[in-house]
Amino acid sequence: MENLSAFAYLIAAVCFIMSLRGLSSPDTARRGNMFGIAGMVIAIVTTLAMPNVLSYELIIAGILIGGAIGTGIALKIQMTALPQLVAAFHSLVGLAAVFVAGAAFYAPEAYGIGEAGNIGAASLIEMSLGTAIGAITFTGSIVAFGKLQGIFRSAPVTFAGQHMLNAALGGLLVLLVIWMCVDQSATLFWAIVLLSLAIGFLLIIPIGGADMPVVVSMLNSYSGWAACGIGFTLANTALIITGALVGASGAILSYIMCKGMNRSIINVILGGFGADAGAGPAAGAGGEDDRPVKAGSADDAAFLMENASSVIIVPGYGMAVAQAQHALREMGDLLKEAGVKVRYAIHPVAGRMPGHMNVLLAEANVPYDDVLELEEINRDFAQTDIAFVIGANDVTNPAAKTDPASPIFGMPILDVEKAGQVLFIKRSMASGYAGVQNELFFRDNTMMLFGDAKHVVEDIVKSME
Ligand code: NDP
Repeated sequence: MENLSAFAYLIAAVCFIMSLRGLSSPDTARRGNMFGIAGMVIAIVTTLAMPNVLSYELIIAGILIGGAIGTGIALKIQMTALPQLVAAFHSLVGLAAVFVAGAAFYAPEAYGIGEAGNIGAASLIEMSLGTAIGAITFTGSIVAFGKLQGIFRSAPVTFAGQHMLNAALGGLLVLLVIWMCVDQSATLFWAIVLLSLAIGFLLIIPIGGADMPVVVSMLNSYSGWAACGIGFTLANTALIITGALVGASGAILSYIMCKGMNRSIINVILGGFGADAGAGPAAGAGGEDDRPVKAGSADDAAFLMENASSVIIVPGYGMAVAQAQHALREMGDLLKEAGVKVRYAIHPVAGRMPGHMNVLLAEANVPYDDVLELEEINRDFAQTDIAFVIGANDVTNPAAKTDPASPIFGMPILDVEKAGQVLFIKRSMASGYAGVQNELFFRDNTMMLFGDAKHVVEDIVKSME
């Protein structure tokens, strides 16, 4: 039985690796998801078939309740609220790691890791690390969820000596872990839990709303490592491998996001950026501006695009908010029928999570070949008649190239200003996520199309028809 379950767990782990591979590109993402589901089914069935499962009632009740809640949430959730949903789910992974470690600490015989007061040293280390990382993930994710959901203020909460305090508490945590491994006392176990809960809270409060998606991805990584630690305690290879995959992929994702925003991970963790950002319209410096802009109508936009030979569409967060992707594809199809070359340019951090725009465009059946990454398309703007920017702002802001004082300085941007004409769909003159004004709105070759992205595109489509 042991060999059989080890083999089944290995198959499950291979499925998870294939799943990650599939999810790395939109055209293989569905297959990737199927591999993920298959791996999870194999892992669950194998675990349930283990001889040390004594009764099924509680497990089935848990699966039914958890499955029903999860399905309900997944059906209702808006794409734009995914980052906070992910944060909320991570908090549960962290809490589960703490509970499993607690159960193993109080009933080590059930896990085959010794007896109460006489647990093996390796198991104690794994258990205390899993507990600490799990508890940090729990409170950290709750703060991230609260900031993204607008329950807490998204501004960084900072105070004098904050980094010193965090470093001192981190040092104390290491000491407690060592002491617990020697002493094996329940008081020390709970002291680790409490201290880690406090550290999770203190680590995330100084981080501003603008950096929260990176933090969510980092917490995702932590939750993976917590699960991996608990996998060692339970001697469960599937949990060890899956936890390590989640931990590593979360860390890589955080790195990609930081690179896309030209920030260092240390800079994100130490916090302070995005004091007023994330609040949307007119957040922070440079929100409103009295300078005149050229505003046009849907008819103007339709006329200009139908008479162009090439159009590059640049989607951003506003397209996701307005759910304009289907109308946008319709517009793209009409333009193609009129002989216009239509392509989509995707910035690595457009929207609020990596791949946000790709997912929405794929949902609207935009052909993958028309969707190009920043490096593939940036040089083409100079030979393009029209850049059609729909709900994107920061990712087109030339201040990232020219203004060293700008918070987005250094971030690679889409060079839309090099196109013959730039059309911007947004509802107002408000700034984007980083809270900085976009000079492009005031340029001669820019035309603003004010309104909700979906409504404006629908009007353009009507005008073309
Ligand atoms: P921005 O947040 O810069 O701009 C979005 C624009 O959309 C706003 O200016 C807003 O203007 C407009 N908008 C909002 N709702 C609508 C609507 N219903 N209809 C039309 N327009 C609308 O988005 P970008 O995608 O350009 O940039 C992403 C930002 O998020 C970057 O700063 C990036 O660093 C940050 N970020 C991204 C992450 C990722 O992984 N993708 C992770 C962390 C941060 P108005 O209110 O006037 O309509």
